[in-house]
Amino acid sequence: MTLDAQIETVFRLSPSQRKALYKLRVTTVEDLLYHFPTRYGDAVLVKTIATLQKGDSAAVYGTIGKLKTSKAFFKKIPMAEGVLDDGTGKIKIIWFNQPYLAKMIADGALVRAEGKVSERRKSGALYFSNPKIERVNSVPEHSDQSLFGNGVDSHHLYPVYPESRGVTSNWLYHAVQKILKTGVLETRTDPIPQDILAKYHLPSLKTALIWIHAPQKESDAVAARKRFAFEEVFLIQLEKQKERRLWQKEKSFTIEKGEEHIAHFTKRFPFSFTNAQNRAISGILEDFRKGLPMARLLEGDVGSGKTAVAATTAYAVVTSRPKGQSYGTLQVAYMCPTEILAKQQFENFISFFSHLPINIGLITSSGCRKFASKMNPHEATDMSRAQLLKWVTDGEISILVGTHSLIQKSVKFKHLAYVIIDEQHRFGVAQRKALVRGQARTNAPQGGERVSHPREFACCPHLLSMTATPIPRTLSLTIYGDLDLTLLDELPPGRKPIITEIVPPEARSAIYEKIRKELHAGRQTYVITPRIDEPDPAKEFAMQAKSAKAEAARLKKDVFPEYRVGVMHGKLKDGEKEDVMEDFKDGKINILVSTSVVEVGVNVENATVIVIEGAERFGLAQLHQLRGRVLRSTRQAYCFVFTESGGKDVLERLRALQEAKNGFELAEYDLKFRGAGELSGAVQWGVSDIAMEALKNLKMVEAARFEAGRLLEEDETLAGYPFLLTYFSLRGKKIHFE
Ligand code: ADP
Ligand code: MG
Repeated sequence: MTLDAQIETVFRLSPSQRKALYKLRVTTVEDLLYHFPTRYGDAVLVKTIATLQKGDSAAVYGTIGKLKTSKAFFKKIPMAEGVLDDGTGKIKIIWFNQPYLAKMIADGALVRAEGKVSERRKSGALYFSNPKIERVNSVPEHSDQSLFGNGVDSHHLYPVYPESRGVTSNWLYHAVQKILKTGVLETRTDPIPQDILAKYHLPSLKTALIWIHAPQKESDAVAARKRFAFEEVFLIQLEKQKERRLWQKEKSFTIEKGEEHIAHFTKRFPFSFTNAQNRAISGILEDFRKGLPMARLLEGDVGSGKTAVAATTAYAVVTSRPKGQSYGTLQVAYMCPTEILAKQQFENFISFFSHLPINIGLITSSGCRKFASKMNPHEATDMSRAQLLKWVTDGEISILVGTHSLIQKSVKFKHLAYVIIDEQHRFGVAQRKALVRGQARTNAPQGGERVSHPREFACCPHLLSMTATPIPRTLSLTIYGDLDLTLLDELPPGRKPIITEIVPPEARSAIYEKIRKELHAGRQTYVITPRIDEPDPAKEFAMQAKSAKAEAARLKKDVFPEYRVGVMHGKLKDGEKEDVMEDFKDGKINILVSTSVVEVGVNVENATVIVIEGAERFGLAQLHQLRGRVLRSTRQAYCFVFTESGGKDVLERLRALQEAKNGFELAEYDLKFRGAGELSGAVQWGVSDIAMEALKNLKMVEAARFEAGRLLEEDETLAGYPFLLTYFSLRGKKIHFE
């Protein structure tokens, strides 16, 4: 057996167990070992069999016999049974669904069984159902005393694992213990180098695995968790920093445009830029001059004006000529997560750039457009994909806006110098890379320059990734370790803060009346339905869609019969989504009920109210982002945060929404107060819950970052650490697979 062995090759699994493990994201032996307990139960009483009573939770030491496997007659469930004898009495043991347990233990072995005592309905006989069982060498001393009074067993702490229907914590415990005993760990190199373990007093991989799954004492468990948290952050850092170093070895386009040049462009806007916008622009222009490819993340709340920063810096690019060429411009690619957004940004860019003699293209899966049209220099025109792509390849299109369609191999630029990714969190890492690296390969060699690179391409484009997702600093240091960070931490002046109200169940109808007043005054409302967590994305979409439709029907029937209610969800086709959005924009829909998975990122200035249902299911930063949808207007906006839970903790947490100055504050708050397992890091950020815990600890994150940098300083290619390279390539495959 190896660590990457599929779990079903090691354990015989029923379909329901297989499904449950899949849900728990356990597919290999290694996944199982890294499926950590979330907590440890209390120590359990050791009893003698004679003193056991129905309903007891207890541990018993004794010899086991009469082991056999069979199938429960009523349901064809595979089961195993045996009889435990401790000299004071005998008790039957039954395991459902875990027949292999009977094979792991030999008749006559001395064991410790721990679990719940049940009673046979007919005979009244007691039995242990699904106890944890393990071989022991001797009966601990204090359990002898339990013949007189009950002793508490200190064998080890009782791990409690995240379960899923079909797989119990107990099953997981036994499965992990079985794996640990096989010696498979001996084959595995510790991913953390020895000297680093020693420096930070971290337990070795093997010790830590034993400690985390069955610690003798609480402090062992804590040390083990710390180690795994460090390991994860360290490995992410190592991978990102390695990437960054590689990136910085590439050549890029040197763009020498200064502030005065830019001023010709910025002065055309009907507003003056915020200090934060100006700072961001200067930073990017500085990067452009260096000749190395920029890799920068622009993080700013919804409405902080990221588009203006993107457009201004794009201006510097499209007013630059390719090297050694007296015609044409360098090119810009602008990628959006949805067709709606791509179209909106295409229109925006036309309005920003129509005074320049450049062409702008739009490419989505449903069609292509080009500005300016030959017939009318003030309008865009539809054109065939082939025609548009030819223009892109010839360098005639200076700015190409699009969706994922931009990544396709058939899209080839002549001089792609600048890639902008909007709402970057909606894209996978692979997609980002495909756009930057893939397109770099298609770039024509720069004028006169011989391509002496061993690689196929001459120049890498600069990259600007934009996101409105506020995340804590320690998290961005980790997952964006390959990017430089610019914060847009200032909103344009004159925006009225959104009035946010936390609405407990009893205040619901009063709030509906308030909303009715807004609707009556001609305003529009978003209603966001609760988040539903479901590992299977197809199922999640279906469930979300159902709940949005139900809520829309309810609002129409019971609350706002006089208004038009529309629904938006992920099961709609792109064209349908667009129709709904158009209708909302045109005021044909008064209330738009939408799932949280569909980002309604478009500007509808007349929408001044947002209702968020099931708010307790969201992180604060996420709620903040959702409420940003009504920040588009100069009118007073309202956010009503509905919660079904009247709990004090929930209300208190939500109250932070009313006080926080920006999303980053809320992100830090989320991190600080989240319970383990909430705000699931694995899904959203690709980091585990244990690493999320670690991100509360800036010192640890900095140490991991420092060590990763030091390692790469000494061994840039990590040639001396082959197991790390294997690890990264395996992880790459896995991420790709998802
Ligand atoms: P986001 O950062 O969410 O992408 P946008 O770029 O869409 O924000 O900008 C939101 C709105 O704010 C737009 O209507 C834009 O014209 C406006 N805006 C951007 N910068 C400023 C500014 N400095 N002053 C006033 N309004 C601005
Ligand atoms: Mg935006």
